[in-house]
Amino acid sequence: MSCINESEIKEESKRLMALGLHHRCVEGRLDQIAALTEEINRLKKEKNAVICAHVYQTPEIILGIGDFVGDSYKLADDSRHTAADIIVFCGVRFMAETAAVLNPAKKVYIPSLDAGCSLSESVTAEDVRGLKAAHPGASVVTYINTSAEVKAESDCIVTSANAEKILRRIYEKNKKVIFIPDRFMGANLAKVLGKTPGEDIILWNGSCVVHEHFDARTIALYRKNYPGVAVLAHAECPSDIINAVDYMGGTGDMMRYVENTNAAAYLLVTECGFGELARIKFPDKNFIAMCRLCPYMKAVTLENILQTLKKPSKEQLVTVPPEIAARAKKAIEKMFELAEG
Ligand code: SF4
Repeated sequence: MSCINESEIKEESKRLMALGLHHRCVEGRLDQIAALTEEINRLKKEKNAVICAHVYQTPEIILGIGDFVGDSYKLADDSRHTAADIIVFCGVRFMAETAAVLNPAKKVYIPSLDAGCSLSESVTAEDVRGLKAAHPGASVVTYINTSAEVKAESDCIVTSANAEKILRRIYEKNKKVIFIPDRFMGANLAKVLGKTPGEDIILWNGSCVVHEHFDARTIALYRKNYPGVAVLAHAECPSDIINAVDYMGGTGDMMRYVENTNAAAYLLVTECGFGELARIKFPDKNFIAMCRLCPYMKAVTLENILQTLKKPSKEQLVTVPPEIAARAKKAIEKMFELAEG
């Protein structure tokens, strides 16, 4: 970082403070963050690179260097419309793979090799082939939190932002549907559609390490102690949590709910980065902490993003074999068609 001088760091610190980052910084750390964001933003311009930042990333990544910020659906869609040569994906591997599938001519990098996902790792392409053999004729609807190989075995991909709409449409056409890999999200969606999980909609046994362990008794306690609190939960939570909340959705939907309502306080049952971002975006609203950190999302840091832009290793370049990419792309494009149609 020797090329950044002190006055540039001061200017960048001011910019970051104006964005609200000082709320979370201990004394001295803001200047360190500023030196990193200043250099990253400079390298982005030099290399014609963009940063896709998921809302579970830290605020310094989202606000300090993010060009595209959002949930899995928005970032997949944004990646299709950039003129950049390089995409540095600040999220987890399946997201970077999706961007690579959609943009074969661009270089897509993941800053941390530890940025996996328990849900994505819960199912393999061979598992999907086994499900298809056991349920011939069933449509395979797959949550985006899966590998490219699994997507390649699927008929249509969904995200939490469009799963209900797409699953409903596919179920109306073909009464035999397999939903993978999140058993909780599958059961929650089946309930919304008035279907029996495991029978009308075949499920897989995957789950998210962040969302599977929240506790409905704690929600009841918060409701008692904070009258008027609105409780929002991500659709990856188990159904006893979903039964206890006011709203279930993806992170984009949850953010819109906060924006468009005026509750006494909000309890956000999801990854902690989302709550941090909501606090910065809506400083006049009250938020109660009930969250868990995703160890995979938090493996991405300003330091490894800078290293990626400066000198990426060959392992950080995310590639998908063309034959798998072509089949995965078909299932992802089906999602865009059904979500937007
Ligand atoms: S929050 Fe859960 S689903 Fe999302 S990346 Fe982390 S482990 Fe995967």
